[in-house]
Amino acid sequence: MVSMGVNFAPRRSGVFDLVEEIGELKRARNAVILAHNYQVPAIQDIADYVGDSLGLSYKAAETDAEVILFCGVHFMAETAKIINPAKRVLLPDLDAGCSLSESCPPEKLAAFLERHRDKDYYVIAYINCSAGVKALSDVICTSGNAEKIVAAAPRDRNILFVPDQNLGAWVIERTGRQMDLWQGNCYVHVEFTARSIGRIHEQFPNAPVVAHPECPFAVRLLADEVCSTEKMVSYCRQSPAHDIIIVTEAGMLHRLRKEVPGKNFIPGPTDHCACAECRFMKMNTLEKAHAALLNMAPEITLDEGLRKRAEAPILRMLELSR
Ligand code: SF4
Repeated sequence: MVSMGVNFAPRRSGVFDLVEEIGELKRARNAVILAHNYQVPAIQDIADYVGDSLGLSYKAAETDAEVILFCGVHFMAETAKIINPAKRVLLPDLDAGCSLSESCPPEKLAAFLERHRDKDYYVIAYINCSAGVKALSDVICTSGNAEKIVAAAPRDRNILFVPDQNLGAWVIERTGRQMDLWQGNCYVHVEFTARSIGRIHEQFPNAPVVAHPECPFAVRLLADEVCSTEKMVSYCRQSPAHDIIIVTEAGMLHRLRKEVPGKNFIPGPTDHCACAECRFMKMNTLEKAHAALLNMAPEITLDEGLRKRAEAPILRMLELSR
């Protein structure tokens, strides 16, 4: 049995030993392992909970564990820390960033808001952003609750939606609310094109196309369903179709194959490759997860003033999306 403070040198010789040791460390640290749907299969398989940003936010808010090993990208682990200041939040690889989050630096957003003070923007930020951007926002949303959050925005305010222009455009279509959109995007989802998805659909003409709202308009137009990764699971479970084309980061297919067995999930291709992988999500590995629990690092730390300012819009989201 491992205990805190005891030197626990890795003794692994294979994947099974590593998985076993991660389990022992997890118990010793009183840790919970949260993994995003886009993580590599080996990490999804050791997680206590696998989900999208909204589900993971709830789990992070609810957990009794003292340590959260967050297997996702930096802004996700940061979000877990914002709502759990007393807990230690670990990220297997501190360099696991996000092109979308980086497209909206807090200083640029602050300068934009200052330049457009006359607009008195109500700022809605997709959760894929830094703590600095969250702190400048009125409310946060995820792809799973964006419609609800935007629909609940005050009618007498101009809305600025950051940082994903594609998700923002999709929410405008769904809600009819006008919003100004920050021109950011996810480098993975914009790789899907009408041509690449049209081609795979020709091969599987009876397969419904399920696409993430971060995809460009031309791809969303081809989709039978546009939804968050969490809703993809329920859509695929309920669909009578055997073949289903999934247009999002390829890690999602592992979860779908596990939770909806007996169906053929086809990864949506891009114009360059047969599936799309996020290089940031794939930076986390079992070895790094093990090392993080062993060394209790890398750890997410935040200035308390910033944390409090970033927490308010997240709590507003959790409240509004119940
Ligand atoms: S898939 Fe896109 S939005 Fe998600 S972490 Fe990677 S770059 Fe960011």
